Amino acid sequence: MLDAAFFRRWMSTAAAAVDREAARLTDLDSAIGDADHGANMQRGFRAVTAVLEKEEPGTPGAVLALAGRQLISTVGGASGPLYGTLLRRTGKALGEAAEVTREQLAEALGAGVAAVSQLGGAAAGDKTMLDALLPAVGALGESFDAAAAAADAGALATVPLQARKGRASYLGERSIGHQDPGAASSALLIGALAEVAEAAA
Ligand code: ADP
Ligand code: MG
Repeated sequence: MLDAAFFRRWMSTAAAAVDREAARLTDLDSAIGDADHGANMQRGFRAVTAVLEKEEPGTPGAVLALAGRQLISTVGGASGPLYGTLLRRTGKALGEAAEVTREQLAEALGAGVAAVSQLGGAAAGDKTMLDALLPAVGALGESFDAAAAAADAGALATVPLQARKGRASYLGERSIGHQDPGAASSALLIGALAEVAEAAA
């Protein structure tokens, strides 16, 4: 079972991964965006870690809801409200349980990803974070490692796609041949989840 401490570790491990990979995220965004994705994610996840340490929410749902609110209030780019919605909606779907199962998390994350799709109007294949998140949700029903592998594969599979949503879509065909930065950061987020699960096992 996954408790609030597990979810706080997920968020701090994600923050560490974002710190480590910030330059790569910004490089990806400089090719098809405005070169701020690394900085946006770093600012957001540092703020998430800080607020979780200060407030120590006591349930998985409350951890993710607080993390999501913090992302929305600290990240200016498109990714802030989208990731914020992902975590808030996932947290809401987990309800007030003190502990949840991987299967329950998979279902809740599915609701979170659907909310991202609704907010941003993007679907699979539009070359966005959803191309990593949607396969991850599907595979999380199987295992944490399968989810991380699916997110990595999904992020890599955005390279040949043409962007149909967000800033990269302004480039039209010139967006082809580059990995989507948000799909790359989503793969980091799911990778951090698998890392924390591995350490807890
Ligand atoms: P901005 O585009 O405002 O500079 P970021 O650079 O932080 O924001 O984030 C860009 C990422 O946000 C993209 O790589 C993409 O994955 C994601 N994104 C942008 N628009 C959408 C959307 N409508 N739906 C889903 N994801 C989106
Ligand atoms: Mg950007």
